[in-house]
Amino acid sequence: MTIDQSKIDASAALLQQASDTYGAELVFACSFGAEDVAMIDLISKHAPSIQIVTLDTGRLPQATYDVMDACREKYALDIKVYFPDASEVEEMVRESGLNLFYKSVESRKQCCAVRKIKPLKRALAGQKAWITGVRREQADSRQDMAAIEDDAFFGLKKFNPLIEWTEAETWDYIRSNDVPYNALHDQHYPSIGCEPCSRSITVGEDPRSGRWWWEREDGVAECGLHASPLKQPKS
Ligand code: SF4
Repeated sequence: MTIDQSKIDASAALLQQASDTYGAELVFACSFGAEDVAMIDLISKHAPSIQIVTLDTGRLPQATYDVMDACREKYALDIKVYFPDASEVEEMVRESGLNLFYKSVESRKQCCAVRKIKPLKRALAGQKAWITGVRREQADSRQDMAAIEDDAFFGLKKFNPLIEWTEAETWDYIRSNDVPYNALHDQHYPSIGCEPCSRSITVGEDPRSGRWWWEREDGVAECGLHASPLKQPKS
């Protein structure tokens, strides 16, 4: 499906609105998935002063580091990388092992809190707004999300410029604009996070079943960063 130029224009306009309103107190939290590399391309063309931040959990696939550097080189953007607190990781691993996330939901949430949520809180500290690449059709929990929201969990205004985009439109944009993307998408990974918590899926499977599939009978789980405020994890 070819993406309509009016959808691209609406997303670009929202990025410009966010940038004009919040200036240096606005960041794009990028995980380098398909939507996020499309967003980087949009930012570079329409609102290049927006600060881009990303999290290196220490467990990312090599393909994610490759696309990070490919974007860094193509767009000459300043991408700020946040890491987990080393002493917290050391303590967690000493107590529960390197692969604690497979032991229980609580252990997985502990790992996500240490490696993702706390570093993201540091990245968002002092900011007034953030941008995400979420799309409504990605998950049932995202059906009520709007283009502009109040994010009660982080206490920020939240902009979701791609909320109306479909998966096919996202890929049309990536290919039409020669945007670098994570090579794991070509191996049927619809959603890419940490290496031990992401997998490829087969035809007909829910795209979210590529993450934390062992936790639920239907194989679909959310990390919590973009669930509705009432469903946000405490950390
Ligand atoms: S996705 Fe997996 S490895 Fe990454 S922080 Fe969460 S539990 Fe840990």
